[in-house]
Amino acid sequence: MLWVAIIGLVMTAIAVTLAGRRVLFLYRLATSGQPAPERVRYARENVGAEIKAQLVEVFGQKKLLKWTPSGTAHFFVMWAFFILATVYLEAYGALIQGAVTGTPDFHIPLIGTWPILGFLQDFIAVAALIGLIVFAAIRVAKSPKKLGRESRFSGSHLGGAWLVLFMIFNVIWTMFLFRGAAVNTGNFPYKSGAFASDLVAKILPTSEALEGVGLLLHIGVMLVFLVIVVNSKHLHIFTAPMNVLFSRRPDGLGGAQEMRSNGKVLDFEEADPDVDVFGRGKIEDTTWKGFLDFYTCTECGRCQSQCPAWNTDKPLSPKMLILDQRDHAFKVAPYLLMSEEQRAHQGQDVLALLEKPLVGEDGVIHPDVLWSCTNCGACVEQCPVDIEHIDHILDMRRYQVMIESSFPSEAGVMLKNLENKGNPWGMPEMKRAEWIEELDFEVPIIDEKMPEDVEYLFWVGCAGALEDRAKKTTKAVAELLHIAGVKFGVLGPMEACTGDPARRLGMEFLFNMLAQQNIETLNEAGVKKIVATCPHCFNTLANEYPQLGGDYEVVHHTQLLSHLVEEGRLTPITPIEEKITYHDPCFLGRHNKVYAQPRDIMAKVPGVQTQEMHRCKDRGFCCGAGGARMWMEERIGKRINTERVEEALTTDPDTVSTACPFCLVMLGDAINEKKNSGQAKESVEVVDVAQLLIKSVKGI
Ligand code: SF4
Ligand code: SF4
Repeated sequence: MLWVAIIGLVMTAIAVTLAGRRVLFLYRLATSGQPAPERVRYARENVGAEIKAQLVEVFGQKKLLKWTPSGTAHFFVMWAFFILATVYLEAYGALIQGAVTGTPDFHIPLIGTWPILGFLQDFIAVAALIGLIVFAAIRVAKSPKKLGRESRFSGSHLGGAWLVLFMIFNVIWTMFLFRGAAVNTGNFPYKSGAFASDLVAKILPTSEALEGVGLLLHIGVMLVFLVIVVNSKHLHIFTAPMNVLFSRRPDGLGGAQEMRSNGKVLDFEEADPDVDVFGRGKIEDTTWKGFLDFYTCTECGRCQSQCPAWNTDKPLSPKMLILDQRDHAFKVAPYLLMSEEQRAHQGQDVLALLEKPLVGEDGVIHPDVLWSCTNCGACVEQCPVDIEHIDHILDMRRYQVMIESSFPSEAGVMLKNLENKGNPWGMPEMKRAEWIEELDFEVPIIDEKMPEDVEYLFWVGCAGALEDRAKKTTKAVAELLHIAGVKFGVLGPMEACTGDPARRLGMEFLFNMLAQQNIETLNEAGVKKIVATCPHCFNTLANEYPQLGGDYEVVHHTQLLSHLVEEGRLTPITPIEEKITYHDPCFLGRHNKVYAQPRDIMAKVPGVQTQEMHRCKDRGFCCGAGGARMWMEERIGKRINTERVEEALTTDPDTVSTACPFCLVMLGDAINEKKNSGQAKESVEVVDVAQLLIKSVKGI
C-alpha cells in the first residue's frame, strides 16, 4: 500500500506547512503587542494553582458543565479530541507500516491491543456524535433568526460554527469506515471492545482498497480540519489551555489590573505620554495576553447572555467587544507586521486603517459600548475559556479618560469632587462623622495610632457616611459590633474615597492619588484589620491596595456579622415574619465570592422566609451602579435597576435585602418608581441584611 502512504504523507506535509505558517503569523501578531511579563511570572510562581486550573477548567470543563446540556455535549466532544488522538496514532502507524511491510496491522506498543482502549475509542466517538446532534439542536433552537438579540449566538460567525460541526462529523464517520474495513481485512488491533467498529464492519465488504481509502479519508479530513481550526474560532482547541494558564488567578475578577506600560507598572511621577502607553488607544497597545483572548473566544455568547447591559438593550455585548477587536487586529495585522519602511509605501487607505482609533464614533468600539459596562463581571465569570473582558474595558477607558479626556460628562463632576473633597458628592470632610452623633454610644475616631484594644477599623465608605439610606446600614453595623463587644474605631474626616469609582472609570491617576493617601493614613495608624460595609471599598482595600503597599486583613460586614452570630455573640431573637429575596452585589458575590454569609445571617433570623431570584449567586444580575455607572446617566435601553427590581418583584417579596450601599440606592429608586406606578405594594422595602439583623437582635 505504498500509494496510500505517499498520498497520506504528501497531504500531511501540505497541511502542516499551511497550519504552521498560520501559527507563526498568530504568534508574531500577539508578540507585536505590549509585553505582559507578570502573566508568565505568576504562572511560574504558582504551578500548583495552574495545574489545578488546567485539571478543573480545561479537563474537568467546570464552567461549561454549569450549562447543561451544551456543557455535557462539549465535555464529550472535547474528550473525543484527546482520546481519538490515539486513533490518529494508529492511522499514521498503519500508513507507515503498510508502506514498509505491505500489511497495515499496526498497533500502539504495550496498550494497543487492549479491548478497553478499543472500547474507549468507539465509546467517545459515539458520545461525540450524540454531542454533535445536541449542538446542532441547540443552534437551531437558539438561532438568532428565531430569537434575535436574545440568542446568545447573535453576532457570532454562524457559518463557521456549522462547518466545524460538519468537520467533526467527518472525522467520526471516516474513523468508523477505516476501522470497520480494518476489522474485515484482519488488520484491526482489537479482538473485542471496539463495539461500534465491529458493527460497522458487518455492513462493509472485505476490501484492502476500501481500508486504504478509509485511512486516507480519515487522515485527510483531520488535515483539512487542522487548517480550518487555525484559521477559525476553533483555534480555542489549542489556545484555551494557554489562556487559562496565563489568566489571573482565581479569575479576572476582584481587583483591577495595575496600569502597565511596556511591561512595567506605570509610575505617574515619571510617566511620559510620548513614550509610555496609557491604556489602549490602538489595537497594538493590546498585550499578548489580550491577543490570546481574541484568539481564544469561541463565540459561544455565554458572556453576552449574562451581560446586564446587553440584556437591557444597550449596545454592549462582551462577546462582540472581543470579536470586533479581533477582526480589526486581523485586518491590520499584515501592516502591523511590516517594517517601518514597508509601511511608509502603503496607500492612504492602509494608513487610515492603521490610524483607526480603537474607541470612537468611527472607531472599532463605539463609545456607547465602552461606557455601558458596569464591571459586574458576569461575562468573566461565565466565560469558559477565561477571557478577561473587564481588563480590556478598563484599558480602553484609561486611554479615553487620561489621553483623550473623552468620557460621559456627568462623570466629570464625580472626578472633580473626588479630587477636591475626597468623596463623589463633594460634601465637606467633616460630614463624614455626623452619623456617629445619632448613636447612643461612643465610637472612637482614630486620628493617630489605633489603640491597642481596638481590633477593627470600620471603613465606613463615602455612601455609608454621607448617603441617608446607606447611613442606616452604617449605624446598624456599628450597633451590632457594639452589642457583640467588638472594639472598633473609624477614621472619620481622615477617611477618603478608596478611589474605586475613579479607577473603574479609567482615571487611574486619581485612583493612585486617593489610594496612596489612604494607605498612608492606614499605615500610620497601624491598622491591621478592616471591616467595610461597601463591597466596592471592600474589594479595593482587599484586592487593590496591596498593589500599592497597603496590606490589611479586610472583611465585609456580612462576613463578620455572620461569624458573630455563629459564635453566639449576636442572637437574633425577635421573629421577622417576612418573605425576603436577596440581591447579590456584584463586587461582593462574583468579584469576591461572598455568597453564603449574607444568606446565613438571614437564615438565623426567626420567621424570615427567603426566596431566591431566578438570577442569583454567580449568575446574579447587576443593579447598574458598578463600573462608575452610578455617576453616569443611563440614556440607552431599559434601566438596569428596573429590570432587576422587576425580577425581584416576581418573588412577591415583603422585603428586598442586599449588602451594598449602591445596590440599596439603585434598587430603592427602582422600587419607589414601581410603587408610584402601582406595580409594587407600598410596604415593600429595600434593606441591608445588617438592618434585618439589628431589628431581630434588638427587637425593634
Ligand atoms: S462586566 Fe458586566 S456589564 Fe461589563 S461587559 Fe461584562 S457582563 Fe457586561
Ligand atoms: S468571550 Fe468567552 S463567553 Fe464570551 S463568547 Fe467568547 S468564549 Fe464565549
